[in-house]
Amino acid sequence: MAAAPRKRSRTPAATAAAAGTGPRRYCAQPVQIPRQLDPSVPAGRASAIIAASKKWVVGTELSYYCYKKGDAVPSAWFGSNTDVAEVDTAFQGWAALGIGLSFRKVAQPGDAMVRIGFDPSDGSWSYVGRDVLNVKDPSQRTMNFGWALNTPYGRDTALHEIGHSLGLEHEHQNPNAGITWNTQAVLDYFSGPPNNWQQSQIDWNILRKIPVAEVKGTNWDPDSVMEYQFEAGLIQAPPNYQAGLMPKGGLSAADKSWVQESYPGIKPPQVSQLKVGLSQLLKLKQGETRLFEFAPTRTRSYNIGTFGVSDTVLVLFEVAADGSRTQVAESDDSGSDLNAKVTLRLQKGRRYQVGVRLYYADAAAETSIQVW
Ligand SMILES: [Zn+2]
Repeated sequence: MAAAPRKRSRTPAATAAAAGTGPRRYCAQPVQIPRQLDPSVPAGRASAIIAASKKWVVGTELSYYCYKKGDAVPSAWFGSNTDVAEVDTAFQGWAALGIGLSFRKVAQPGDAMVRIGFDPSDGSWSYVGRDVLNVKDPSQRTMNFGWALNTPYGRDTALHEIGHSLGLEHEHQNPNAGITWNTQAVLDYFSGPPNNWQQSQIDWNILRKIPVAEVKGTNWDPDSVMEYQFEAGLIQAPPNYQAGLMPKGGLSAADKSWVQESYPGIKPPQVSQLKVGLSQLLKLKQGETRLFEFAPTRTRSYNIGTFGVSDTVLVLFEVAADGSRTQVAESDDSGSDLNAKVTLRLQKGRRYQVGVRLYYADAAAETSIQVW
């Protein structure tokens, strides 16, 4: 069946129709305890770690699964064929930007990093970036959709929740937005139907400012797919949003450039070979990632690690014959005096890739990687 053409910008009539007669429902992120680094970690290093710690290592293949009939989870989580197709389309929309991440739909929830439910009573939400790895139980969701996805608002919701999984936060919480809320109006609006949020959810999703290190860019992007629509009376300043805020719909130019800069596409000449016992300089700048190939010549336990005074996350992927990649181990040494290291039994004849993201280095040129 041919895909229906997608409307990427809203006409006023479509906006009115999508808005319906009452307040709309919004994405409600699960309230999290922010990561605490040891107080001895200097501020510059800490903000570099915070900026990168939710981002995936380039080369990661995000596997995803939509719960369906037969799974041992509440039946309310099962998605309709229509909504599942919209989720697939939204993943393809992000992938089409030519980024260094790929997405693969898998047949079992236990094989998926991103597990998606469609419970209408639970709203729409997703864990942010690598936080999804903390949800390990195959019967637990990392994302939920609480309303139909085959509308302009629904398609933007699908892009928005996947944006969270890629590491994006809400754009109205960007401290550079300079938004002053009418706090009482915000509390009244979101605690009422149909959202019925607790104050902690309102604080977490609307009023809280996100640390500068974690936001998408230095400038506020009111057209971001990570921005909410806001009705009149909720924003006091900037004054031109007192009458409400309506993002254009779809991915904004800044959404696209953020994901392309965070996850640059991988060109084969950039992938170096790792050889046992030979260290290679990482040659990474802060926030950059690099991918290496490793083909074991014997089946045995191998160590793969970084050396140098730096904070890195190191991820080991196994690459299947069809090119699909599975993350088999990871190590994150950020904020500690240790180096990232994984130890795993690897099989001769199989193909592995090692991805490294450098959060921070005292002397970046001296950080290296080695297999032994
Ligand atoms: Zn959200």
